Amino acid sequence: FRRHELSVGEMVEGILKGDVTILSQAVTLIESVNPDHQARAQEVINKCLPYSGNSIRIGISGVPGAGKSTSIDEFGMHVLKEKGGKLAVLAIDPSSERTKGSILGDKTRMEKLAQHPSSFIRPSPSAGSLGGVARKTRETIILCEAAGFDKIFVETVGVGQSETACHSMVDFFLLIQVAGTGDELQGIKRGIMEISDGIVINKCDGDNVDRCQMAATNFRNALHFFPMPDSGWSPKVLCYSGFYGTGVKEIFDMIYEYIDFVKANGYFAYRRNEQAKYWMYESINEHLRLNFYNNPAIQAQLGTAETAVLAGQKTSFVAAQDLLDEYFSLLKK
Ligand code: GDP
Repeated sequence: FRRHELSVGEMVEGILKGDVTILSQAVTLIESVNPDHQARAQEVINKCLPYSGNSIRIGISGVPGAGKSTSIDEFGMHVLKEKGGKLAVLAIDPSSERTKGSILGDKTRMEKLAQHPSSFIRPSPSAGSLGGVARKTRETIILCEAAGFDKIFVETVGVGQSETACHSMVDFFLLIQVAGTGDELQGIKRGIMEISDGIVINKCDGDNVDRCQMAATNFRNALHFFPMPDSGWSPKVLCYSGFYGTGVKEIFDMIYEYIDFVKANGYFAYRRNEQAKYWMYESINEHLRLNFYNNPAIQAQLGTAETAVLAGQKTSFVAAQDLLDEYFSLLKK
């Protein structure tokens, strides 16, 4: 093992050679809150950027228990066998901040894949806002691609805002559902169906097959009422079993069909450009936010402002405006 800290140049060189130990160290820098680490991480990312982009990025979402880890293990083994290359599994799990210890992307949840020499599994960064966690995952994609990973899975929980963040960094967004009581369509938010390029019903095995097929029909019917997505691709609904591996081939045939389709009609490049633009603004927002909250003068006044709002002495908007005015006047000094 290495005792000295690697320079930016050594890190970039190691990443480009596909050294996963160095790749891991670079991801740790991305995740660090230390400003010096952050600065080095940004240099590494900048140098890796020209070597990135050459991959297929697939977002995989589903509520806890839907079978994400079982499925990703199976999906990963399938694509590596069929297509070769290298696969990185990353995650966005903002809840991990609260639970102290991220779960998604954990190696122990993907036993077969974890032992595969061509896979790289990295759990979700475990500190910060959703925006911060998502930005780190997005930056990690760049490093993985520079290290020759040509397939990227981004796992996320299908609750809250994290699926939107995931959608903003992938080429194909796959939603895993399970057939339940027959009213699963009511439980699922319209928004997440709208951003899905494919919906797959897991656990289609044993005496659950009929129920899954019925759920699939319901989803197909529901999708008819949605406007045609910008991609020109009508989302498909498939049944499979992550546990037994049945139907997995069909899912990946669909994904590769989609990729060919959107590469041919220009949407693939368009979506990536839109995402790059989105991430520029996200980075600005994140940076401004951190800069504001890390300002010592602001930190000193936040408590008082909060108390004033709670006591009804100031409205939220006035309190916010006062702090922002203070912040901007400090910047001018
Ligand atoms: P996650 O929380 O979405 O990652 O879900 P897991 O992959 O941990 O799976 C949750 C539970 O569902 C586990 O007990 C799995 O064994 C089970 N499970 C996952 N996939 C299948 C499947 O295809 N068929 C059946 N019958 N059970 C499954």
